[in-house]
Amino acid sequence: MPTAICHCGAVRVEVPRKPRRLTNCNCSICRRYGTLWAYYKMSEVRVVNAPGATSEYSWGDKALRFVRCATCGCITHWEHIQPTETSKIGVNARNFDPALIGSVRIRRLDGASTWKYLD
Ligand SMILES: [Zn+2]
Repeated sequence: MPTAICHCGAVRVEVPRKPRRLTNCNCSICRRYGTLWAYYKMSEVRVVNAPGATSEYSWGDKALRFVRCATCGCITHWEHIQPTETSKIGVNARNFDPALIGSVRIRRLDGASTWKYLD
């Protein structure tokens, strides 16, 4: 199964399939991180790391946490702090093998203001 791995290899995010599309969001956090998001159901993704191997950041209403490797600093995913059965997870597609996502369409999301796609 495709796996998004941080630079040092301490955090692995296993997903069920290659993403169908990727999202480039311009909100205040995503534009700084430079992430490309692949969305899945949280229940179909497995995050594998040793205890204490990650750090996280939450802001605003603190509904989400942005998780990064505590060693190499790569953002690995975001997740809901209080997930439900239908919660999504955003996996940072920058951590996939570039060959896996090379042909996947990237959509530009205006997360900064309208929450609509710009393309
Ligand atoms: Zn790492």
